[in-house]
Amino acid sequence: MPERVWYPTDQLFIAGQWREASDTLPVENPSTGAEIGRIARGTAADIDQAVAAAETARHGEWGRMTATERGRVLTHIGQLVTERVDDLARIEAMDVGKPLRQARADAVALARYMEFYGGAADKVMGETIPYLDGYTVYTLREPHGVTGHIVPWNYPMQIIGRSVGAALAMGNACVLKPAEEACLTALAFAALAAEAGLPEGALNVVPGLGEEAGAALAGHPGIHHISFTGSVGVGSLVQAAAARNVVPVTLELGGKSPQVVFADADLEAALPFLVNAGIQNAGQTCSASSRILVERSILGEVTQRMAERYQALRVGPALADLNVGPLISARQKEIVTGFLSKADGLTIAATGQLADDAPKAGHYVAPTLLADVPPDHILARDEIFGPVQVIIPFDGEGEAVAIANGTDYGLVASVWTKDGARQMRMAKRLRAGQVFLNNYGAGGGVELPFGGVGRSGHGREKGFEALYGFSVLKTVAAHHG
Ligand code: NAD
Repeated sequence: MPERVWYPTDQLFIAGQWREASDTLPVENPSTGAEIGRIARGTAADIDQAVAAAETARHGEWGRMTATERGRVLTHIGQLVTERVDDLARIEAMDVGKPLRQARADAVALARYMEFYGGAADKVMGETIPYLDGYTVYTLREPHGVTGHIVPWNYPMQIIGRSVGAALAMGNACVLKPAEEACLTALAFAALAAEAGLPEGALNVVPGLGEEAGAALAGHPGIHHISFTGSVGVGSLVQAAAARNVVPVTLELGGKSPQVVFADADLEAALPFLVNAGIQNAGQTCSASSRILVERSILGEVTQRMAERYQALRVGPALADLNVGPLISARQKEIVTGFLSKADGLTIAATGQLADDAPKAGHYVAPTLLADVPPDHILARDEIFGPVQVIIPFDGEGEAVAIANGTDYGLVASVWTKDGARQMRMAKRLRAGQVFLNNYGAGGGVELPFGGVGRSGHGREKGFEALYGFSVLKTVAAHHG
């Protein structure tokens, strides 16, 4: 187990208690391929207990807390996360394989989510509505009740922060099913939440396999809302399971997000974003910018300057803190190299370099930049979820929009141009949940509503908007004559 772990990693966290699991699963360090510990393999019976604990909590101490008190607890959790940032970063680096600096940024973001939702908890207000003579009408924002949270392995801390943080702020009681590939920081979060005074049962964590614990949570009749972040295939299974219980769902799924570079762009400013948005977390980011659309007159220059940056990229173990770490698993490496084997006939503009001392059993793939790729090529349409970017040329604004909107996804897009009118037109015409003008995902975006259209999902997390998603509106109409 990674050093600096201060909580039991092979147990379940239910009703404020650590509980033995009936079985365990291995924890692999993706940088070395070595087993570094065990985690609980939660069962459907464990999910039953977690849902029951959450149900009890929402009628108990947790349910009775005022919004201000809930906010204080969240703020306190954020403070404890901040005190543990370096420990959390090291644990996440070893569990997910992300370079230490990126893991640290995730821990800082988790603290920031707690600070943001802690401050927002008592600022969600209803409305009064002018109505018939003799009536007073107002609305209340109430928690759903028990919320389920199924999160993936790529950004555990950030996704827990935005999803569980907003749900707790609104007074829901949560059951969290982290990914089997990486759940150590989810358990750390539970430990810190308990230390901060979160009442028992308000947060329950059941690690385990997707088809066991995950499916049991998605289809549980005691859940009142499900937030799922992950693949399109599993997301549609979760939505179908929730539909059987008529439960609302937020789906945060994949993407094939474009950055559109016009000839008048400030390339000096654009270049770091063009590359970093593709290779961050080894490309295993839902909002990774995997398509770079370039106006044809500057195609050669952009390709060459991105290629220079790729050649400088170093790939190696998470703790070496290079530019790029390993992929999460042997299976993910197989998926990514499978896509790369379809690059026949395409031009490889540049690749990054694997460090000489990178362990052979780590799941490394050199970042790969492909030039002049037709927009209908499989590598330009499908989500690869690895460090691979394609450069696609375009002629004029109309073609840029058609190519940018030409996949099944619509998560994030960005536009690089100095022409203000074009910025406004493009922002309206691009099909995406977020559009950045002359930046890409700058600042992490805790405050910025986030989510997709099309196969990128539906519903919004992050920012204040998430608080509406994690609550139900009640209309009260009083007749007083
Ligand atoms: P995944 O769908 O395989 O797994 C996600 C979670 O679902 C895990 O906790 C897993 O255990 C669980 N799960 C698996 N099968 C299940 C089932 N039958 N029922 C219920 N739960 C089940 O996805 P992944 O491989 O872990 O993550 C990669 C995908 O996630 C990519 O497509 C990526 O784009 C997407 N993603 C999206 C966002 C976003 O915010 N839009 C963020 C991160 C990742």
